[in-house]
Amino acid sequence: MNTPIPALCRTQHKKVHGVYTVNLKPIGLLTFLFILGLFSGFQLFKPPQAVIPAQIGSITVHTDFLPAEYAGYSDIHRRVRLIVIHETDNFSPGADAQAHNTYLHSSKQADTALSWHYTVDDTEIYHHLPDEIAAYHASDGMRAKGGNESGIGIEICVNQDGDYQKAVDNAAQLVAYLLQNYKLDLDDVKQHYDFCGKDCPHRLRENDNWQNFLAQVEKYLAS
Ligand SMILES: [Zn+2]
Repeated sequence: MNTPIPALCRTQHKKVHGVYTVNLKPIGLLTFLFILGLFSGFQLFKPPQAVIPAQIGSITVHTDFLPAEYAGYSDIHRRVRLIVIHETDNFSPGADAQAHNTYLHSSKQADTALSWHYTVDDTEIYHHLPDEIAAYHASDGMRAKGGNESGIGIEICVNQDGDYQKAVDNAAQLVAYLLQNYKLDLDDVKQHYDFCGKDCPHRLRENDNWQNFLAQVEKYLAS
């Protein structure tokens, strides 16, 4: 009794006029799978697209990017890896997000290498710089994967005529939104302090405020 040839062998080799030829179908399939693997690999490592939000929850986000020729607008395109939290430490009445946006845009700032991405107050958010552009806020130069080189800088307003707790809550919503978009974790939310030892964000660093802030972010991540 003849032993049946396994199906795989039958399709792989055929004897044509005494010459063995290789069936190219399996090779084609392997090549296809290899290219598919490469492509999905590229997709996996491709940085998420930078966002320009107009609204986060019920908070309006005003986009007003710095002129590209300003010193605060670095030419460094980077991958977002961190969120760096600051407080303005400006308690003056009226020192809200719009006032800080005006300050960053003033011609006096044109030659100053000082910048950050968002300022948040109790009612609105200003977006000063595209997220994919490195800014100067973390006091750590352009150290690779540092606060400036890879962080989104967020300033929370502390103006005495504003509602600080609401500003913190608005910042938590912004942070949750950014973590989701850039596929980051709660561990990637840092304090300015972490990069240079400066007591910033000052009020959030008091008592349990920082842990409470992270818990707020987590709540918005889950919702
Ligand atoms: Zn700071």
